[in-house]
Amino acid sequence: MAQRTAKRCIFCGGEEEDVRPMLPLPENLYVCFPCLESLNRLMFSAIPKGDIAARRVLRLISETHPELLPQHEEDSTPMEILTREQDELPTPEQLHKMLDAYVIGQEYAKKTLCVAVYNHYLRLRQKQSDDGTEIEKSNILMAGSTGSGKTLLARTLARILDVPFCIVDATTLTEAGYVGEDVENIILRLLQAADMNVAKAERGIVYIDEIDKIGRKTQNVSITRDVSGEGVQQALLKIIEGTECNIPPKGGRKHPNENYIRVNTENILFICGGAFVGLEEIIRKRLGASTLGFASIEEDRDTKEYTEEEVLSKALPEDFFLFGMIPELVGRLPIFAPLTTLTEDQLVALLSEPKNALVKQYGKLLSMSGVKLVIEEAALRAMAKQAIERGTGARALRSIFERLMLDIMYQAPSDKRITEVTLTEASVIGQGEPILRRTKKAS
Ligand code: ADP
Repeated sequence: MAQRTAKRCIFCGGEEEDVRPMLPLPENLYVCFPCLESLNRLMFSAIPKGDIAARRVLRLISETHPELLPQHEEDSTPMEILTREQDELPTPEQLHKMLDAYVIGQEYAKKTLCVAVYNHYLRLRQKQSDDGTEIEKSNILMAGSTGSGKTLLARTLARILDVPFCIVDATTLTEAGYVGEDVENIILRLLQAADMNVAKAERGIVYIDEIDKIGRKTQNVSITRDVSGEGVQQALLKIIEGTECNIPPKGGRKHPNENYIRVNTENILFICGGAFVGLEEIIRKRLGASTLGFASIEEDRDTKEYTEEEVLSKALPEDFFLFGMIPELVGRLPIFAPLTTLTEDQLVALLSEPKNALVKQYGKLLSMSGVKLVIEEAALRAMAKQAIERGTGARALRSIFERLMLDIMYQAPSDKRITEVTLTEASVIGQGEPILRRTKKAS
């Protein structure tokens, strides 16, 4: 009905026909000008703390049409007032719970990340309230094998916090002046993710992947510049620590006559991730040596007894130097969140439990063609086993599952008699076909 498409004011519920004009906001929201006027007369702080919807709309207005809102409280912008308020920031525990809906396992990493991210956004508020104590920025280093959920964790956190997010591959970066991507293009990407809204981008999250692949090549020190390794790390230092960047709006190389966009990276949270293959061994060796050499409290415990998580949580900056990371860069990533290799049970859970689990996605797709998807527990387990053999964690699992579903997805929409598909263990290990159930009557 027309009701669905009518533009309604989020505050008074009036339609565009009744009260106009209507101010369009992101996310298909609208606010009528009479309401906007009464908002203008209101102090922001007068809006009840629990009225999250009103606060959200105000934030959208302040981001998209700041000129329409007056400045209250000694020149603080509405955005500043809103970000300062406690009730909008989820606690580390709440963040953790929200992450659990999307990410399986990785408890230690989740806890570390939630605390770091919470502190980061607290720090932004503290800066605005300015009582003198300077809290240092808590950029994060994540280590974990491929397909263990590093990118997923960073992306999910950004989604929960409703901040702009971008992913960059460190191996494509070069220091300024060389062929490749300038480090400043990272900020351009974030700006694009924030719809070119500088204030929003300045509070965003950047995920830099493959950080372990740009190591300094210490073995053969050359007199020529090391384009791909140390130079990039040096270039990253500045933006990670916090600097004013001049961003060419269209990206690419800078031109002298171009109008740059100035972005301050001081409040941008940087999360760097990498597989750091062999890190566990390096730490075990160090721990082993220290228990032999010194009277440590852990003396009587063989390092073999430590779990992967326990070992990784004992990482020290020098362990990363062995991967060619320069001390300055490690120093600017003070929070370390290690991820563990996903176990068989976790891989099984990953297929069916998260909010957007593959089983749920395909189940939904098939149900749209009137087909019910049934997957035996043994089939899920067989897929998890195959993924472990391939050694690329959840990535392998995804491709195994999608390959199995291909035939079904191909067949089901055209064979209208199919009502149910069952994936069995035999069909996963290549010793049978999925069981199809059809209605009796011919179509
Ligand atoms: P990484 O960055 O560690 O290489 P990703 O986060 O890109 O891995 O994960 C690859 C795929 O596997 C994604 O589709 C992601 O949804 C899924 N995945 C990986 N780890 C997990 C996890 N712990 N829980 C749920 N899904 C996961």
